Amino acid sequence: MPPVIDLHTHSNCSDGILTPEDLVSRASEAGVEVLALTDHDTLAGVARAQQAAESLGLTLISGVELSCEWSGVGIHVVGLGMDCRAPVLRAGLASQYQARQQRAQLIASRLEKRGLPDALAGAEAAAKGAVVGRPHFAAYMVQCGFVSSFNAAFRRYLGNGKPGDVKTFWPDLETAIRWINDSGGIAVLAHPARYRLTRQKLKRLVSAFVRAGGAGIEVISGHQETETTRQLADLAERFDLYASAGSDFHNPEIPWQRLGGFGTLPARCKQLPLYSDVA
Ligand code: AMP
Ligand code: MN
Ligand code: MN
Ligand code: MN
Repeated sequence: MPPVIDLHTHSNCSDGILTPEDLVSRASEAGVEVLALTDHDTLAGVARAQQAAESLGLTLISGVELSCEWSGVGIHVVGLGMDCRAPVLRAGLASQYQARQQRAQLIASRLEKRGLPDALAGAEAAAKGAVVGRPHFAAYMVQCGFVSSFNAAFRRYLGNGKPGDVKTFWPDLETAIRWINDSGGIAVLAHPARYRLTRQKLKRLVSAFVRAGGAGIEVISGHQETETTRQLADLAERFDLYASAGSDFHNPEIPWQRLGGFGTLPARCKQLPLYSDVA
């Protein structure tokens, strides 16, 4: 039996709500045996998660979820098993941090033009020291009554094609993959079904991803339709990619992102070479 894995999760070092320690302990309670913490554009929580995992006998794989851009689409690439001290990765993450700061300023000025006061300070306060992202703007917008819900903030202001959807500062897909590969990790295309691409365009994305050195794809991302799993397993097979699976956990209240709470990968999938020694 392959181990119970969850290779895509977030802590409060990015836009999740649990500390890395609490995340690891909940994952362990949920029966997860191999876990990756994959915060957005930061490794800040990995060492803490690693320590917590050791004390609970859980295998922790270093991880990150990088934001990048391909053909006008914002794409997420999960890196797994990198050497966190690698200078190339450190430099890449420093530039992601700068990109996030510049982007937050632009998002804030766009939202202020639409009537939201003190948007940057508000989002930074909501981030509580974590790297600032759109969810922190959403939280602030709810908090000051600018929108009625987190979802409404994304639907009206922050989601795809809305004023707060700023991709200008991200590196291209090739660059993000290079940072992961050059630090000894495996680049995995995150939640391929979430970009809402046509089949044709998704194939073009996967093909560009493979050409740039990407080696894996998330066949399972949180709770999803069986048909989606089948289609993504086909895609993985066709491009000879490793299959990954993760909850994309952010918050224990979100029912479709339960830690380890998604089915198992189809048997025909090629297993990632990261945890073959785990019982
Ligand atoms: P960012 O990293 O700043 O681009 O923000 C992206 C994050 O926002 C994702 O990782 C999700 O956690 C969250 N997100 C994206 N779209 C939505 C949405 N429509 N509703 C709620 N949260 C979203
Ligand atoms: Mn997120
Ligand atoms: Mn993502
Ligand atoms: Mn994620």
